Amino acid sequence: MMIPERLTSAAGCLGMWGALDLAVRYSNQRRTFGKPIRQNQAVCFMVADSITQLDAARALTYLAARAVDENYPNVRRLVSEAKRFATQAAWDIVNNSMQIMGGIGYTDVYPVERALRDTRLGMIWTGTTQIMNLLIQHEYYNEVLDPSYDRRQMENDATHPDESERCFTDEDMLNVFEGGIHG
Ligand SMILES: Cc1cc2nc3c(=O)[nH]c(=O)nc-3n(C[C@H](O)[C@H](O)[C@H](O)COP(=O)(O)OP(=O)(O)OC[C@H]3O[C@@H](n4cnc5c(N)ncnc54)[C@H](O)[C@@H]3O)c2cc1C
Repeated sequence: MMIPERLTSAAGCLGMWGALDLAVRYSNQRRTFGKPIRQNQAVCFMVADSITQLDAARALTYLAARAVDENYPNVRRLVSEAKRFATQAAWDIVNNSMQIMGGIGYTDVYPVERALRDTRLGMIWTGTTQIMNLLIQHEYYNEVLDPSYDRRQMENDATHPDESERCFTDEDMLNVFEGGIHG
């Protein structure tokens, strides 16, 4: 049940382009010290940060949605990542949008203040950001430490492998998986 709930929380956040578009239009019009505020890097770099976060959130959310549609084995991790990342990104994007708009962004002359309040919930409901982190690391440890995991192991690429200096052997890894992770 939490898979669609969390995916919906992530996807809803992608709508925060609305606040950012508004801040972009506003910063193109609003003038201080004789020029549009967008001509200050301190302002327009907030736009760059925000649109980058939004596009990254979109990509991760679409990846998680595809994983659900196609029954990938790591669905729980991807959906948790998407929920965590997109809700944090939405908060940052709306917060930046309000900052770009200054005092009027805080008032109800524009709806950014409402978007800020609405967006705050995303990091709490359907599982908090901290609980998403709990799930993400748990799923990833289980993937990597599973004996059937067959990705290339970077340890094998060392130019001077010295077994006496290494902190674990393949057998240790197996014990950690059987005892530590599931224990
Ligand atoms: C507007 C709104 C609507 C909601 N709608 C629904 C709904 O329709 N159905 C439903 O079932 N629930 C709903 N909820 C509940 C929501 O899912 C929970 O509020 C949310 O999961 C957080 O649980 P909690 O409030 O009990 O916080 P707690 O679990 O008490 O957490 C408090 C803090 O402790 C942290 N924390 C707790 N445990 C750990 C841990 N093990 N490791 C690290 N940090 C931890 C949390 O991250 C958080 O920061 C809704 C909540 C709100 C605010």
